[in-house]
Amino acid sequence: MRVAIAGAGLAGLSCAKYLSQAGHTPIVYEARNVLGGKVAAWKDEDGDWYETGLHIFFGAYPNMLQLFQELGIEERLQWKSHSMIFNQPEEPGTYSRFDFPDLPAPLNGVTAILSNNDMLNWYEKIAFGIGLIPAMLRGQEYVEECDNQSWTEWLRSHNIPERVNDEVFIAMSKALNFINPDEISSTVLLTALNRFLQEKNGSKMAFLDGAPPERLCQPIVDYITNKGGEVHLNKPLREINLKDDGSIKSLTIGNAEGGDSVEIEADAYVSALPVDLLKLMIPKSWKGLEVFRKLENLRGVPVINIHIWFDRKLTDIDHLLFSRSPLLSVYADMSVTCKEYEDPNRSMLELVFAPAKDWIGKSDQDIFDATIDELRKLFPDHFTGTDQAKVRKYKVVKTPLSVYKAIPGCQAIRPSQETPITNFFLAGDYTMQRYLASMEGAVLSGKLCASAIDKSKERLEQKNSQAQSS
Ligand SMILES: Cc1cc2nc3c(=O)[nH]c(=O)nc-3n(C[C@H](O)[C@H](O)[C@H](O)COP(=O)(O)OP(=O)(O)OC[C@H]3O[C@@H](n4cnc5c(N)ncnc54)[C@H](O)[C@@H]3O)c2cc1C
Repeated sequence: MRVAIAGAGLAGLSCAKYLSQAGHTPIVYEARNVLGGKVAAWKDEDGDWYETGLHIFFGAYPNMLQLFQELGIEERLQWKSHSMIFNQPEEPGTYSRFDFPDLPAPLNGVTAILSNNDMLNWYEKIAFGIGLIPAMLRGQEYVEECDNQSWTEWLRSHNIPERVNDEVFIAMSKALNFINPDEISSTVLLTALNRFLQEKNGSKMAFLDGAPPERLCQPIVDYITNKGGEVHLNKPLREINLKDDGSIKSLTIGNAEGGDSVEIEADAYVSALPVDLLKLMIPKSWKGLEVFRKLENLRGVPVINIHIWFDRKLTDIDHLLFSRSPLLSVYADMSVTCKEYEDPNRSMLELVFAPAKDWIGKSDQDIFDATIDELRKLFPDHFTGTDQAKVRKYKVVKTPLSVYKAIPGCQAIRPSQETPITNFFLAGDYTMQRYLASMEGAVLSGKLCASAIDKSKERLEQKNSQAQSS
């Protein structure tokens, strides 16, 4: 079957990869001139990369890890020590670590938590541990039920001291969905904690060894094209054209380089667009359908990724760092953590600025200035005295509508990969799969979408031959 896919983010590419593997012919149309969507990256005039987001891969990403294996590129994941490292705001320039020993899960996680005495006291650890028992015993079913509460509400309803939020979960919540614990659904935190506590290497982190479009997306494209599929850049979906029965007749595909639009037909059609852009494409006659109506309540959250190149090394920590700063979320010195960005003498910090709702409209200079103010606290030694670190250059990438904002109630409105429209399917991290809004979620959604299309093969082929003979 020929399958037209709009969007070459990880979900669209994964869908195309698994369709190719199943013997189908995917044709991917991407609006921009770069692969990867939210993992897109660009080179500046000096040849230095800057990215949409600082991206971390976890041991608890089975579908992503399998994809790396299938593509034969596992060595591109640079695994770091099994630790989580937090800045200590009350002692600027110092860190507190959760180190996971080489023990089976959940013993390694429990040991990591119990042996950290900087952040939580014993009472807080015990209260939190007791609170987690239902999640551990009842698993995903319980985790899903908790989607009616924010994380702060969940902590309160389990009599867990508010300080646990301040110490650990503001940082985790900002890292997972770029919002604070009073907004984020407790399902998000419980899903992550469950994976981290149940899988020995669940919380182990890896950095890609270079920029995602080249090091991850291109090998997927090569796989697709080697099997006869196609991936086109600068080809935005402009319109979904319908038959009388409400199913798709064709897609109008534009040309961002200035040529004419074309109408293309296929056996099945996939939207791998972000949810906010899909909503703009929904044809009028579909708008009353429950699945599309519900999408109105899924909305992307703003986030900012900032890169700062310095004239010297600020740190040699080869890991992700949780800043615990009010303005920033996680950050890393990419000159240490990522092979392609390596520089033995000078740091390049990549920092996620979140929550970004009050900052997304501000100028790059304002965002940079605010970030530097935070860095003075994170690296006091380098920003005081006569010989201070100098900024060589910086780059700000704003994403006003990024991953869907995972507030309470979203689980019930996330759509399946199949839709009531017989030849229309959905892929994207916002579609229903157990990994929420993440690269793993995007890859899994694409795989589930490909499988749904493959299973509908007979029905789709029959429908198309009927249409041709009538
Ligand atoms: C700052 C930041 C940090 C992140 N950190 C992490 C992390 O550490 N770990 C993790 O797992 N996840 C992280 N994520 C989330 C992760 O990047 C996303 O969940 C994932 O990449 C989403 O993939 P997707 O394919 O569903 O959507 P997208 O990547 O948004 O792909 C959609 C594609 O559709 C294209 N498109 C849009 N309109 C059209 C059109 N009309 N026609 C054709 N194409 C169109 C877009 O250009 C895009 O390429 C982060 C995200 C951000 C923004």
